[in-house]
Amino acid sequence: MDNKDFIKDFPILNSELNGKKLVYLDSAATTQKPMQVINAIEEYYKNYNANPHRGAYELSILATKVYEDAREKVKNFIDAESSEEIIFTKNATEGFNLLGYSYGMSFIQEGDEIVISIAEHHSNLLPWQRVAKAKGAILKYMYTDENGELSLEEIESKITDKTKIVSITHVSNAIGTINPVKTIIDYAHSKNAVVIVDGAQSVPHMKVSVRELDADFLVFSGHKLLAPMGIGVVYGKRNLLEIMEPYTLGGDMVEYVYEQEYTYDDIPCKFEAGTQNVEGAVGLAAAMDYLNDVGMEVIEEIEGNLVSYALERLNAIPYVKLFGPSDVKKRTGVISFEIEGVHPHDVASALDTYGVSIRAGNHCAQPFMRYMGISATCRASFYFYNTKEDIDILIEAIKETYNMFSKWRD
Ligand code: PMP
Repeated sequence: MDNKDFIKDFPILNSELNGKKLVYLDSAATTQKPMQVINAIEEYYKNYNANPHRGAYELSILATKVYEDAREKVKNFIDAESSEEIIFTKNATEGFNLLGYSYGMSFIQEGDEIVISIAEHHSNLLPWQRVAKAKGAILKYMYTDENGELSLEEIESKITDKTKIVSITHVSNAIGTINPVKTIIDYAHSKNAVVIVDGAQSVPHMKVSVRELDADFLVFSGHKLLAPMGIGVVYGKRNLLEIMEPYTLGGDMVEYVYEQEYTYDDIPCKFEAGTQNVEGAVGLAAAMDYLNDVGMEVIEEIEGNLVSYALERLNAIPYVKLFGPSDVKKRTGVISFEIEGVHPHDVASALDTYGVSIRAGNHCAQPFMRYMGISATCRASFYFYNTKEDIDILIEAIKETYNMFSKWRD
């Protein structure tokens, strides 16, 4: 499979920045968008724009249809049983806050345990700190080993009969580890805990079936899978969503409103108060169509090859330190590294002068960085539109950056 077939669909990847070919290696932060997604949004505004679920007129009915068709597409993409189990949010962060409020605040009692991993993104951490504090519950961490992996021993020792919620990232945005979520879900279920899967870094990169995993909830953001920013998804099992309180209150989520009280609508509308991001949903549906056309297996294969090649080339450089599993089967295209003697922020700025966009920092995972004894890493992250040539440019830029900083040190 030649990635060049895909690159032509992404205008930004064919552009130059400061006279250099753009080498975009920050897809874990957000992905670039193909013309198919951009066109779908334009088509929506040209032909279907109206406030859905509101009017009896034709255009509003059409807007409702495209919005609900998008929900159906998401349902198929993650293999949910019903589109009513799909809630649109602003992003993954809003999804975790929704679950913290609507599930955590209602079903967590004093002394209960909420279990997360030390490698969580802040968005799957802060909402649980808030629930634990408000309810007198205990927030417990599963710690990773030196490769950034969670052992079965650690999982089984932290998830206990007191555990009510396990919220775990499928793939670490900091170091790319693929967590054994199926094992965690099965074990947590044997203790009657519900499991929330953070799919922000997995759903864009691999086939994720909520039914195969038996996940209770799955959360992800559209912008990390070719869709626009401002649209995210919470999947929840019907029986759980039905017993949860709504998160935001207002128009469109209610049935009857009286002076002192209200009754709310059925799922999924009860979780979607106010005018929704129809443009985002349309873009998300187009993005999922695009990914389905490429094929998630093809995406996994391309990324697996890129990761193997990048690790091989980075490992050959003595002053580069890599984080995360060395086994490519246990990781995705998120590669965190350090260059001896050069601060990650300086590395990122220097690489930028070669046209290479990478991320430097704590990757919104401060407790994890502290646990690993570092303050920041450089992070190069790949998607199926990247090429071996991008990695070659990255490697050359790393070498030149190291040499440049060495000269200043001498
Ligand atoms: N979880 C993970 C694993 C992530 O990588 C991110 C984004 N970096 C988030 C959650 C939060 O996503 P968003 O900023 O789109 O809400």
